[in-house]
Amino acid sequence: MGSFKSFACRYCDYTEPSIPVGRSARGPKLVLFVCRHCKSIGSTWRQEASGRDPVCSYCYDHDLENIGSSAELKCPKCGESGILSDAEGGWE
Ligand SMILES: [Zn+2]
Ligand SMILES: [Zn+2]
Repeated sequence: MGSFKSFACRYCDYTEPSIPVGRSARGPKLVLFVCRHCKSIGSTWRQEASGRDPVCSYCYDHDLENIGSSAELKCPKCGESGILSDAEGGWE
């Protein structure tokens, strides 16, 4: 079962209250990314077997930076540091 992360910037208004991450029962995995194109944080399916580049779930651009699961994250909007934390709930 997957879980949710939330991101909140301490300086500007940018927040992402629930970003699904983790692995589904069938195998594909949702990983966090920062999109350099539309400057947002989200998650995208990583299909290890297909070899295709993951795309941004907002603008479908390929210019993504995988951010792993570090707790301190730079805000893509303003460049200041924000906080990544665990959010409530889960998904299958
Ligand atoms: Zn910000
Ligand atoms: Zn994007």
